[in-house]
Amino acid sequence: MVIWPNGKRIAVMMSFDVDAELMWLQRGDGNADHITNLSKGAYGPKEGIPRLVRILNKHNVKGTFYVPAWVAEQHTEEIRLLVQEGHEIAYHGYYHESEGGRPQKEMEEIMEKSEQVMQKLYGIKMVGHRSPDAAYNDYSIAMYYNRGYFYSSDARDYDKPYFQKINGKEIPFVEFPKESLYDDATYYFVTDSLPVRDNIKPPSFVLENLKADFDALANLGDRCISYIFHPQLSGRPGRAGAIDELLTYMLERGAWVAPAKEVAAYMIAQHGPFL
Ligand SMILES: [Zn+2]
Repeated sequence: MVIWPNGKRIAVMMSFDVDAELMWLQRGDGNADHITNLSKGAYGPKEGIPRLVRILNKHNVKGTFYVPAWVAEQHTEEIRLLVQEGHEIAYHGYYHESEGGRPQKEMEEIMEKSEQVMQKLYGIKMVGHRSPDAAYNDYSIAMYYNRGYFYSSDARDYDKPYFQKINGKEIPFVEFPKESLYDDATYYFVTDSLPVRDNIKPPSFVLENLKADFDALANLGDRCISYIFHPQLSGRPGRAGAIDELLTYMLERGAWVAPAKEVAAYMIAQHGPFL
């Protein structure tokens, strides 16, 4: 059981998937020619990121931004802002490619290309992984680990963080499980292009849901939350206001809000030797 530092009750990762235009391009239903849908995606870097960064800075906390390398190439200025402000950039594909069922050789090539882009543009080495299609393969954990990553946020099997295993043995590689409850697309993703989704929720509803879940998890003591916010959805002023209020609420109630790489490094240091 992990004990969080300084008497904190729960680890919270303010994580954002910066899918930008790829949220639309990868839907594969004619969105490539849909200029205004692509511009909905561009809202994420253009308006969402600066607004969300202002909120994170106001609370003096750092976020984790899962950025496809293609997005980092298209929106260099906004991603550079994240790096300059000390937020974490983590792996989220090159072109937001699906991972499930993809051969290892192809995955290695995609990861290599993405890592090179981030290194070249921003001088950073990514240490965290989130799969664009919420899926990975039998070989994946060992591959991430061997490429120098030490956490991922993909699985949904627990509500506490845990160490991944290779051949039945724990390795210094942390899994931060996620959940649709923490995904703003569950509440906010709306489109009139196929497949249509039009069930929009007010920020107050989302805030109420997230506060209730936070309280219950914080009471358990060794839990974490790894959010899945998208700047193009949660970066809207009213919704960003809900994130602002959520941060106030959590920080007043013993949350350790930190980038995923810090939480993972802490857990690995606490664990002792891996046999
Ligand atoms: Zn994504």
